[in-house]
This record gives sequence, C-alpha cells and structure tokens, in this order.
Amino acid sequence: MCGNCLLQETAFICPMACPKGLRNGPCGGSTPDHCCVDESRPCIWFAIFTRADKMGRLGKLLEILPPLDWDKAGTSALRDVYEEFLADGIGKTFSTFVQSSNEVRKQQWDGFFSEIRQPDWWAGDSQPHPPSAHKPVSKLERILSSGEFALTCEVVPPISGDFFAFDSNIQKLVEVVDAVNVTDGACALPRTSSFVCSLRVTEHGIEPILQMAARDRTRISFQADLLGASSSGIRNLLLITGDHPNKGAQPFSKMDIWDFDSIQALWIARKLRDEGLMLDGRQVENQPSYFLGAAAAPFASQPKYQAIRAEKKVNAGAQFLQTNLVFDIPRFRDYLEALDQRNLLNRVHLLAGIAPIRSLKMLDYLQQLPGVQIPETIIQRLHNTKDIHQESHQVNLELIEKVRSLPGVQGIHFMANSNFGNLRRLITESGLRQPHPSKS
Ligand code: SF4
Repeated sequence: MCGNCLLQETAFICPMACPKGLRNGPCGGSTPDHCCVDESRPCIWFAIFTRADKMGRLGKLLEILPPLDWDKAGTSALRDVYEEFLADGIGKTFSTFVQSSNEVRKQQWDGFFSEIRQPDWWAGDSQPHPPSAHKPVSKLERILSSGEFALTCEVVPPISGDFFAFDSNIQKLVEVVDAVNVTDGACALPRTSSFVCSLRVTEHGIEPILQMAARDRTRISFQADLLGASSSGIRNLLLITGDHPNKGAQPFSKMDIWDFDSIQALWIARKLRDEGLMLDGRQVENQPSYFLGAAAAPFASQPKYQAIRAEKKVNAGAQFLQTNLVFDIPRFRDYLEALDQRNLLNRVHLLAGIAPIRSLKMLDYLQQLPGVQIPETIIQRLHNTKDIHQESHQVNLELIEKVRSLPGVQGIHFMANSNFGNLRRLITESGLRQPHPSKS
C-alpha cells in the first residue's frame, strides 16, 4: 500500500518491510540471518537479492528507484497500471503483446512498468553518470585523482554549547590527515550540527567532509543544505542513510518511514550539481560544486550483493567510497574482488575504514556494531596479552600495513573515537605521514 509499486525490480518481494523504508538495497548492517534494526525478522533486502540471484534478475537491482510519491501512499498501484494501459491504448497494447516475439514482449513489459515506477521528476536508470571533465573541486579530490594515498579521519561533533574541546581535537589532526569527516547524528544521537562543525573545521585550515544523514532530512531541507554547503565553500560531501532511531536517544521520534535514502540523496545531489536541476524541476542560478562520497559496507550481507549496492551508489553519483571498519583482511579482499568484477575500482576512489583498537572495552563495543567482523585471531590475541596497549598498537600497525598494500585501496579513513593523540602516533609509526616536529 505504498502506492509506488516497484515489485518488477525487486524480484517480486515488497521492500517496504524494511524498517528504514529503503528502496534501493540493503543497508550496511544487513546480514543473511536477520535485520540489524529488528533481529526478530530477516533482512528483507537480503531476501530480495537472494531471490533475484536465483531468478537471474540481479541486474535489475541496479536501477535507481525513486523516493515515494506520498500522494500515492495508501492507494492501490493498480490505478497506475490501469492509467498506463489507457495512455498506451488498451487494444494496441494487447495486440502488440500477442503478435510479437518473446524478446519484443519482454521489452514491452519492461517498458510498460518502467513508465509506472519512474516518474518524470525522477527518471532513474541503471547507467553510470560520471561528471564531465573538470578540475578537482577539493584538496581531497586532487589527492585521490593524482594517485596519492589519502588519509581522512572522522570527528564526532560535541554535545556542548561551545567549540572548546572540538577545536582542540581538530588541531591534533592538522598535518596528519587530508580531510576530516564531520559525522551527522551518528548512532542516532543528537549533537552539534555537522554543517556548523564543518564550517568550523575550515577555520583550522583543514578540509571538512560534511556528512549528511538522509534520516534527519526531508527532500526540502536536504536540497537547502546542498545549496548552502556549496555556497559556503564546503566541497566534500558524504551522503548516508543514517542509523535507525531505535539505536539512539529515547524517547524515540516518529520516524518509521524515511523520506529518501543515501542512493536517492546521491542522485538528487548529482543532478543538482551536473544538470542544475532541483527535484521539482526548477533550474538553479549557479550550479553548485562538490566531490560526492558514500559509505560502503564490505562485510554486510554478501560481497557480491554489496558490490551491486556500491555500483548503484557510483552510478548515482558517488566519486569516493569510505568503507566500514576493516579487520578481516581475507574477507575484505573478497569484497575488493567483487568490486573489481563490476569494474568499480577504476570508477571510484576507495578509502578503507580503520578503527584503532586500544582496549578490551573498545574491542567489545566494536564487536556489537552492525556490519563489523573481527577475526577470532585478533580477539584472542588481545584477550591473551599482558600489555593491551602495546599489543593493540601492534595489531593496528599490522592492519594498516596490510590494508594499504591491497590493490584498489587509495586511502585510509580512520575512526579514532577522539583518541587523536594515539592516532598521530599510529600514522607516524606506520610511515603514512610525518607531522611537523613542533606539532607532534
Ligand atoms: S538490515 Fe537494513 S536493509 Fe535489511 S531490512 Fe533491516 S534496515 Fe532494512
């Protein structure tokens, strides 16, 4: 009863059972066994991919499907089918169908339902849409385009009425990373706005990567922020769906249907930048400028399914991907191979996520995170050592060494949970950067 039927593209399983209302594939916490939001039920998107795989319809999952037209919610999608029949001419449609070859019939069938599920204001497809030739719009884009190894780090905005602690954290990152991700309501917990903190980051002479979670935005506020970011000189954007509110602060807000998802966010941002078009068709005065990024989940569901999701993001507009945390190198290699099989490693810059472990408490926390897999060998090593600080430091150095040597990895994205002094040491000792002596 969403009234925006897309069963033709989803192996005839309705995706509206997804608690996040995702219409373009599994989130980064999807597993073969259960949904990461409600563990009592399976991930509906894993079921869709599995059935599409069996039916030979995986290719159909590449089409970028539109956000809901809320006018249709609660009505029957059969009305659209009937109106499409009328528009095409019922007699003509039937006679062509009956008299044609199987191949023509299939095209007619696909075209008929494509008209229904892809309204003119969206017109999504499964094709690549690379930006036209251009000079890099940010330092991060310049570094990645030139083949240098990039370093980024995530910073969580403060729960504070001032920037005192935030400024001090940013200062520790100057000269050791190329850009700083400013998270947006991570873990569904409210903090200072990522937009405002990104502006603050620029004052320290370092580039922000403004994270924007679709969860907290309507399509109106999202487009407003896209324009505002470009006008303010923020060039790097990371567009994500966001954690489900039931992972965060209580009492919960009423957010059981989301207005759009990360892939739709990329599609909207790319059209705004490259075609100067707002979602409602209005033309912008001066086209905005950004370097678009997305999150990738190497350990969710299956590598080949997540590679399809990654391709969809790249087709929609993603120019760089930052992955979830990598601890399991063989499985990460499988994911990179799955990306390579879809020819993605030539089309997108990939930064591998690394979270430097520094305690057993942190190890325990990381093991609970959706989409994170830590091999038993690392767990045992850290539990059996007498010096957790030294051993975890060694594990982190080894992970960095292995990850940076993998083909297709063009940088590392650190998630250091505010332990930036330790991160500086790790970056220096691993040989990734040599910070200026006066600031070490
Ligand atoms: S795991 Fe993610 S994609 Fe799958 S049903 Fe749950 S919220 Fe939706």
